[in-house]
Amino acid sequence: PSEANRRRVTILGSTGSIGTSTLDVIEQLGGRDAFEVAALTGSGNIALLAEQARKFGAGLAVTADEGRYEELKQALAGTGIAVGAGRSALMEAAAVPSDWVMAAIVGTAGLGPTLAAARRGADIALANKECLVTAGDLFVQAVAAGGGRLIPVDSEHSAIFQALEDDQRHAVERIVLTASGGPFRTWSREQMAGVTAAVARAHPNWSMGLKVSIGSASMFNKALEMIEAKHLFDVRPDQIEVIVHPQSIVHSMVGYRDGSVLAQLGCPDMRTAIGYALTYPDRPELNVERLDFAKLARLDFEAPDEVRFPALRLARTALERGGIQSAVMNAAEETAFHAFCDGRIGFLNMADIAEQVMDDMTGFGPALTMDEVFAADAEARRRAAEIVAKKEMAA
Ligand code: NAD
Ligand code: MG
Repeated sequence: PSEANRRRVTILGSTGSIGTSTLDVIEQLGGRDAFEVAALTGSGNIALLAEQARKFGAGLAVTADEGRYEELKQALAGTGIAVGAGRSALMEAAAVPSDWVMAAIVGTAGLGPTLAAARRGADIALANKECLVTAGDLFVQAVAAGGGRLIPVDSEHSAIFQALEDDQRHAVERIVLTASGGPFRTWSREQMAGVTAAVARAHPNWSMGLKVSIGSASMFNKALEMIEAKHLFDVRPDQIEVIVHPQSIVHSMVGYRDGSVLAQLGCPDMRTAIGYALTYPDRPELNVERLDFAKLARLDFEAPDEVRFPALRLARTALERGGIQSAVMNAAEETAFHAFCDGRIGFLNMADIAEQVMDDMTGFGPALTMDEVFAADAEARRRAAEIVAKKEMAA
């Protein structure tokens, strides 16, 4: 394509696991000849952000870390690439005109910038599940009002998106989310109680950022994905099933009312889902490993254990209660996750804290505006931090 025809893309969270895979896909599909990188954002890794911005000739590079502005500016001196730092610069990066935005900032920090991109009508490739868990229908409405498309990147939701027949939505009976079961799939609660973040982050199949890796070990990631599925595919909570599938080859499935089940399979590599989101409805030519069925030989499935992995039960509770409960669950767990990584609380405390804050906040009404969503999120974080401090004192 000529300069003028290049697809304009923005990557929020370009320095992370999803972000670097996204740039790899962009490189595979023609790099600067095919894509104009409007903006890239990162946080701590300034050297990588600057390297990416130079390589892809980004229009703007932003670090979320306010204090690192000078460092980024120096790293990009003489390139003509605009630089920014801090919260408002992140919002600017989201607002720069582009056709497609990869939302790959981790955690609730991604909500504001992703919303800004959605409101201006960009197609949103959604890796950041927290947007839907926290803001739910308000987020979906913002995308619809902006006029862009919402394309899932989470491997399970990409699989479902691919297995959904557009004109047969009414015939969908159930969504089956597969879960690897993580590193503690066969462990007892007693064994899990003492693990450190370094142990919990070692995922058997996928290479991912810290938050998702720990979330796979606790199955809290699957809890978020159940809620994500509800908003993406407009299904009732009782239509969402979770099945443990240790090989992570079947990425998820859709069951129809005639008994048919359609699945999407592939090697555990996020670049397939990222590529699909980038060129949808086309399938791009990608250099990723192909499935070798003879080598695989078998695929295993087992029912999840909600006693050892209470996060799944919490997701059901949040879905049943509705309102701000999933935002509360997410915010409390994110706070507990940071405390766990800092060695302040144990692995099993993360779900305890989320559950307690959820129970304590049942009296709160639904959030009707984004301000109310942010208020509920902040209140849940405050309460979770209080419980963390108490547990720490008791320990
Ligand atoms: P990561 O930790 O590897 O990268 C996170 C990115 O966000 C980095 O670019 C980082 O600089 C940036 N960031 C961190 N804190 C920030 C803040 N406060 N403000 C702005 N930017 C900040 O995470 P990841 O594994 O790439 O995951 C990104 C998102 O994608 C998450 O929401 C995750 O749930 C989702 N996701 C990831 C995978 C995976 O395989 N990694 C799979 C499915 C979904
Ligand atoms: Mg996933």
